[in-house]
Amino acid sequence: MLIRALQTFKDSIFPNKCLACSQFFHPETNNRPEKIPLQAMANDPIERVFCRVMGPFLCKACITNFSPVSSPYCTQCGRAFKTRSGSCHQCGDCIKKKPDYTHVRSMGIYDGTLMAVIHAFKYKHKIQLAGPLGRLLFSAFLKYDEIQNIDYVSPIPLHVSRLKNRGFNQAFLLIREWPDLIRAVHDAGNGENESSSIQINCKSLIRKTKTTSQTGLGKDQRAQNVKNAFQVAEPSLISGKRILLVDDVYTTGATAEECAKTLTASGAASVNVLTLARTD
Ligand SMILES: [Zn+2]
Ligand SMILES: [Zn+2]
Repeated sequence: MLIRALQTFKDSIFPNKCLACSQFFHPETNNRPEKIPLQAMANDPIERVFCRVMGPFLCKACITNFSPVSSPYCTQCGRAFKTRSGSCHQCGDCIKKKPDYTHVRSMGIYDGTLMAVIHAFKYKHKIQLAGPLGRLLFSAFLKYDEIQNIDYVSPIPLHVSRLKNRGFNQAFLLIREWPDLIRAVHDAGNGENESSSIQINCKSLIRKTKTTSQTGLGKDQRAQNVKNAFQVAEPSLISGKRILLVDDVYTTGATAEECAKTLTASGAASVNVLTLARTD
């Protein structure tokens, strides 16, 4: 009670600075990411979860400038169709060349507010966003996947030199609190018995080649750039496992596709991909 009163006092005296537009604003005091019930994370529309989780970080105008990935979209690569009517189905590209992953799902479109937030997290070292963004990603996971259908959650790995430069793997930070969230789902009785067996696995898939940045490259160049860049460290750990790969942004899918190919070649039973954002 005292902490809450102090927080209310602090919020009324010291406004927060919006991550997207840099304006100062007074957040609504009840918008604390950790207060969001699991039930809401699982069942509320993702834009509502976004508003609740990001309330302390974004002003009212910016928080509504978020575009979720809404249906219809491709059931495999997850790309939203231009036409906004009809049901989800496989797109022409996925029919022509079947990807190695089972499906890709993303929380939102990489523009406006979401782009600003991811930039702040990744390039301006706003590491405090890892928890809220990780919860948002978990909310998307509950909507698109079944806990009992996944054995390992793995971040898309960075090459060791990039890891040293940046100091952290943003994809790992997003899932760092997932074991607690998965346990909470399990304790709430919303998961199957196997739910707590999901493990965070950061060691099995490694990036053996230092690739140049994918920024500015076209789809084919990106695919060429990451070709054979990954390796499974211990195939026996991957064999038969159902893997969820996570990352911050999905662009052309070249990296996710190459990771899925490498994992599948080592005997992975399935590879799903989940990202915070996608470019289209
Ligand atoms: Zn703003
Ligand atoms: Zn597709």
